[in-house]
Amino acid sequence: MPEDLINSFMTGPDEAGRFGKFGGRFVSETLMPLILDLEAEYEKAKTDETFWAEMDDLWAHYVGRPSPMYFADRLTAYLGGAKIYMKRDELNHTGAHKINNVLGQIILARRMGKTRIIAETGAGQHGVATATVCAKFGLKCIVYMGAHDVERQAPNVFRMRLLGAEVVPVTSGRGTLKDAMNDALRDWVTNVHDTFYCIGTVAGPHPYPAMVRDFQSIIGKEAKAQMLDREGRLPDTLIAAIGGGSNAMGLFYPFLDDADVGIIGVEAGGKGVNDKMEHCASLNGGRPGVLHGNRTYLLQDDDGQILEGHSISAGLDYPGIGPEHAWLNDIGRAQYVSVTDVEALEAFQLCCAQEGIIPALEPSHALAHVTKIAPDLPADHIICMNMCGRGDKDIFTVARALGFDMEGAP
Ligand SMILES: *Cc1c(COP(=O)(O)O)cnc(C)c1O
Repeated sequence: MPEDLINSFMTGPDEAGRFGKFGGRFVSETLMPLILDLEAEYEKAKTDETFWAEMDDLWAHYVGRPSPMYFADRLTAYLGGAKIYMKRDELNHTGAHKINNVLGQIILARRMGKTRIIAETGAGQHGVATATVCAKFGLKCIVYMGAHDVERQAPNVFRMRLLGAEVVPVTSGRGTLKDAMNDALRDWVTNVHDTFYCIGTVAGPHPYPAMVRDFQSIIGKEAKAQMLDREGRLPDTLIAAIGGGSNAMGLFYPFLDDADVGIIGVEAGGKGVNDKMEHCASLNGGRPGVLHGNRTYLLQDDDGQILEGHSISAGLDYPGIGPEHAWLNDIGRAQYVSVTDVEALEAFQLCCAQEGIIPALEPSHALAHVTKIAPDLPADHIICMNMCGRGDKDIFTVARALGFDMEGAP
């Protein structure tokens, strides 16, 4: 290892795909050759300038990167403490950060000669991003979605179908995201020759958590350069919402070795982090176990059954968390807190009123934590939060929660 990389938080995972006790690849023997093949291709692509040139071109002209770094001046004045900046990843094509990663995986799939892309999706956001990029490249796209989620997320199901994807409702198990992930893995084993499995967050067997992190790290790389440009220094605190943890990992990763930068991940606290699991706070309210090919903190009952959890934000209700976050939590490099549905809803409304930005419910969780800590911090303290998605998709949920009658509206 080169000397300058020793004592770095950025060297993980190890060869076995582990971040400390977490990560790894807990997959069947039939899947192992596929995973090794993918790993070899990704290792090649990582140092291949033509790969990154293609990414940079599409990021710029298809996605709309770099996303702005916005100083939220009215919110800063309103809260009366730290300076609040927002990394505007909600302005990306498709309205969130997910496309950053999907582009990387699809370009990799094309280099591997794969013509059929499969994905799993819960709320549908990753499915929409995957269907989008598949349409752009003329690739066949199959999205596994829990039957229960297909019903709950009709607009995203329709979007995916418009984009040419086949949406497969999964009825096995309880018909939710976890079951969709299992079916996607089964499909992959059966259709190895032409199929690529596109995972939507920093989870899954190695190399997915590291690969997705690397693709999402464009967020943190841009943020670093933009903060230096705007303020002449790095921010004091980074804050991002955690579902599986990809937007957060993308923002955090380039700052891991900057010891003066505090890092806070915000989990979905739902109705409160309690024994009834009416939350999705895997770190604050879960236990280590194995799911989706990796070892990490999970929402589970006493028998190790994976639980579904609850959050007002459909994008945050992944029953686990990326293994790198589990490790950063255990070694204390990052702090993980939770925010309830009610707090997120308040932050959502505050952001609309103070900044003219309708945020997704996911980053509203990050913003809620900003509103808790900013007032007590000095005026020269800089917070950078990731505005990872826009709220158009959430207005019906918010209307219902606030008791606003969409049908009878004047
Ligand atoms: C999917 C999604 C999330 C949760 O996923 P992460 O992997 O934790 O980033 C958060 N915000 C938005 C807007 C999403 O679409």
